[in-house]
Amino acid sequence: MIAIISDIHSNLAALEAVLADIRSRDVERIICLGDIVGYGPQPRECVAAVRQLGLTIMGNHDEAIFHSAKTDQFNLRAEMAIEWTREQLSLEGSEEEVKARFEFLRNLPMTEERAIGSVPLLYVHGSPRKPLREYIFPRDIQNVEKMREIFTLIRGLCFVGHSHVPGIYTEDLTYVHPSELELLRIYHFEERQKAIINVGSVGQPRDNDPRACYVTLTDEADAVVFRRVRYDVEKTRRLIHSVPGLDNSLGDRLLEGR
Ligand code: ZN
Repeated sequence: MIAIISDIHSNLAALEAVLADIRSRDVERIICLGDIVGYGPQPRECVAAVRQLGLTIMGNHDEAIFHSAKTDQFNLRAEMAIEWTREQLSLEGSEEEVKARFEFLRNLPMTEERAIGSVPLLYVHGSPRKPLREYIFPRDIQNVEKMREIFTLIRGLCFVGHSHVPGIYTEDLTYVHPSELELLRIYHFEERQKAIINVGSVGQPRDNDPRACYVTLTDEADAVVFRRVRYDVEKTRRLIHSVPGLDNSLGDRLLEGR
């Protein structure tokens, strides 16, 4: 089994709970689709933990560490969080350790293609069209042109994060939220089916379920299971409230998963 996680956003309590859940299962590899940092209170710890994993793709918040956040891409509280995160990443550890931390983030790949048997797999943070920035939202199934263009770039299964809303998008323009699946939250793929799987967010879910979210893929790449994990939301919220550089609302939203 492969576990695919995304959008940790410096929420260490959520990340640790998810990694513990993963360890309790028969998982061989863990893949992270980016946004290790941004919004949350423990960026250094999250980067250190993610560096131990198999493969990590770059997210827009990871990339923003290397640019002035004063772009219209981010709202004010996200921009403030990026500034604070950059500062935090340069603290603690020797000069070499700090350098290695930044180099790890800087060198993350934008996309990665792999295959399981005859099933091509594509890993990307946002979308295959614009790896870092483009969102794919449930409402996009009405945007025929957008979805068609995106699906021409996909040969098999494409795993994404970025929107923080888990679910499956199919080529015939349907979207399925995990709650619409049976109790086990399992989705079976047909042979040669193309699909986009949004794995949801570990550290800042936005589908009205505060539990951390991730996905496991079977060894044959013929099914995914959406998994939710309870974690100490209040702990992360308290930490966010204790940091002047982080807006309190970033902690409050975690309680409702929005
Ligand atoms: Zn994100």
